[in-house]
Amino acid sequence: MDLPRAVGGSAAGGRGRYGWETRRLGAGVTMPRTRDVGPIVLLGPPGAGKGTQSKRLMERYGIPQISTGDLLRDNVQRGTELGQAAKAIMAQGGLVPDKLVCDMVRERLNQPDCRRGYILDGFPRTAAQAGWLDALLEEKFFDNPRPTQAMPIVVRLDVDYNQLLLRITGRRSCPSCGRIYNVHFQPPKVDGLCDVDGTALVARDDDRLEVIKPRLEAYERQTRPVADYYERTRRLVSIDGDQPMDKVTERLFSIIEDNQA
Ligand code: ADP
Ligand code: ADP
Repeated sequence: MDLPRAVGGSAAGGRGRYGWETRRLGAGVTMPRTRDVGPIVLLGPPGAGKGTQSKRLMERYGIPQISTGDLLRDNVQRGTELGQAAKAIMAQGGLVPDKLVCDMVRERLNQPDCRRGYILDGFPRTAAQAGWLDALLEEKFFDNPRPTQAMPIVVRLDVDYNQLLLRITGRRSCPSCGRIYNVHFQPPKVDGLCDVDGTALVARDDDRLEVIKPRLEAYERQTRPVADYYERTRRLVSIDGDQPMDKVTERLFSIIEDNQA
């Protein structure tokens, strides 16, 4: 399977708004971008803010965001074998078979930028994927075994159903740099154009009401048990994802940094 490294996020980027220096001036909690962070799993229904928060984590800790949705969309766009298998399923709001997704994730995690840690956004989404990830983390999979053998920090973003609908229907993104906007909650400075590079923003094909419903149902049926699994094993931390983005980010940083202390 052919996966370009940049897709699904890259660890590159300077110290920005959520970078380490900002934090040092703030609450006094310090955590260098160079320290191993280990795996972070972001769970939550479609529209909960996983992608938005992943990008902030990526910038602060210098670790890549691995969004299975982004990786799959890239495969669909490039017409790969995986993309052809996934296209119709994604268009209908179903879940792509575990084997295909796990193979894709394995290949992505094997890239060197994942050695210090990574953010899994939208994975695992089924009990089978969660079991597969646990098994993978027990393997000596990388040259540097530390971050991978560490158990992931698992965080779930909880958001009210009606709020989710607004977030999903209002979501727009930049096809060029991947920045996420929202016509209701986070509009661009110029209507319809990316603040960073001026590219025309797009809505995702599956962010239509008729596809949103099956996606939310798939979450309830297949992904909620994943959170239950992590909860049973005392690895789940839940965040009130209905709060403003910056509040959610602050809470996430403190969970991760408390975990490293
Ligand atoms: P959202 O951001 O709304 O949570 P994603 O971008 O993560 O959605 O996923 C879009 C679609 O890609 C899903 O509806 C599903 O079809 C497919 N997909 C993404 N991640 C997975 C996964 N881990 N397992 C199976 N299918 C997935
Ligand atoms: P997910 O990856 O979980 O599907 P996204 O990060 O793409 O979710 O967010 C979905 C939409 O909701 C985006 O348009 C984003 O701008 C918006 N959004 C994200 N977090 C918040 C928040 N805390 N408050 C209001 N809108 C938000």
